Amino acid sequence: MKQLVILGAGESGVGTALLGQAKGFQVFVSDKGKIKEKYKEVLIYNKIEWEEEQHTEAKLLAADVVMKSPGIPDKVAIVKLLLNKGVPVISEIEFANQFTNATIVAITGSNGKTTTAMLTHHLLKQELDVGLAGNIGDSFAKQVLEHNYNNYVLEVSSFQLDGCFKFKPKIAIITNIVPDHLDRYDYEFENYIASKFRITQNQTKEDVLIYDADDEVIANYINNNAIQATVLPFSITKKIENGAYLDKDKIIITIDNNQIIMPTKNIALEGKHNIKNAMAASTVSHLLKIRKQTIRESLENFQGVEHRLENVLKINKVQYINDSKATNVNATYFALDSVSAPTVWIVGGVDKGNDYKELYPFINEKVKAIICLGVDNQKLIENFGNMVDVIVETQFMSEAVKIAYKIAEAGDNVLLSPACASFDLFENYEDRGRQFKEAVRSL
Ligand code: ADP
Repeated sequence: MKQLVILGAGESGVGTALLGQAKGFQVFVSDKGKIKEKYKEVLIYNKIEWEEEQHTEAKLLAADVVMKSPGIPDKVAIVKLLLNKGVPVISEIEFANQFTNATIVAITGSNGKTTTAMLTHHLLKQELDVGLAGNIGDSFAKQVLEHNYNNYVLEVSSFQLDGCFKFKPKIAIITNIVPDHLDRYDYEFENYIASKFRITQNQTKEDVLIYDADDEVIANYINNNAIQATVLPFSITKKIENGAYLDKDKIIITIDNNQIIMPTKNIALEGKHNIKNAMAASTVSHLLKIRKQTIRESLENFQGVEHRLENVLKINKVQYINDSKATNVNATYFALDSVSAPTVWIVGGVDKGNDYKELYPFINEKVKAIICLGVDNQKLIENFGNMVDVIVETQFMSEAVKIAYKIAEAGDNVLLSPACASFDLFENYEDRGRQFKEAVRSL
């Protein structure tokens, strides 16, 4: 019996354990930390061997294959040891993919993965049998085991891609690439870019790579490397013959002379970045032969995703917007771009070496006050102090929202778009977004 060792007992680890067991592997799950109760119960119920708060080296080294959870860096001692001994270390996506013949749509990028994945799934599910997995909901492995859909939309992080060697999606999307998670890539942007492009490494010309042609990092990489996939770029700045582009207020998608035209006013999601996300999702749908009318209607009735430019409430004609998922400057750029003037902006958290310059034009144009919320407030004050009349700081969400309430006047927005990580004051970005919404609701 082949030995499958799983490092990390989270959603992807436990899903892989179940799938591995069903496919005849002897499975051993090892977690250096404490395993969550709900996952422990699953392992015990299914009689899968496990350990926590340690790694028993001899057991791990006996593996024929190791599935490493995406949160574990290659740098940790046990992973180094396994790699040195030549044990294959792969990701959940790579493992589960062997056991399905489904058509795979895989989505990566620095920002917009979840939105694009959910939107694509929403469009496809109107006419196809399709699962949604990756960083969203039940793991891909679990879904392959329990549902075996004919199609999957997968949100794939660079960490998952690092453990992909044979994974070959029929359709790959790269939404954009900006520096992020560089601590996992030896602080080399090039390494991070290469990781994202692993999504297309096994694709051939029968497969398709959809990407943002306005993103210089992506465009440069494609110009300088041999990509085997058929490419379908999208752009909001220039005409694209084969792919998607914006012609004034219409999106035009052309694939093999077959065209679909969609007015942007029919897209429920707001903001330029969401036009891009809609282009990517519609291109996939057009490729997979979803009816044009269905695509148009589904773009119109898509409800959006929590914590991404989520309209929370209107109080005294002031719109409160939760964009807690904006954990880097690029995401906040698109948030500030999409709001109408004037805006009270709540920003801050753990600064990841941010360069705020690209936001300056928006500050002058539409930000009337800034509320800094987090450990790195000083840097924000240094950056923006001279640009607005009001800049204040706090360490409490409820206070930030109350201050915003006092400043904002009818017609204004109050926007939480932090451009920073959340783990100084909050558990995660969801917690930050929820606290914002609670504070708004109790005004
Ligand atoms: P990811 O899953 O890649 O983190 P999300 O869809 O969760 O992406 O969005 C993360 C943040 O980036 C949100 O603040 C969202 O408004 C913003 N965003 C969404 N799509 C894009 C895009 N295409 N380009 C830049 N920012 C985007």
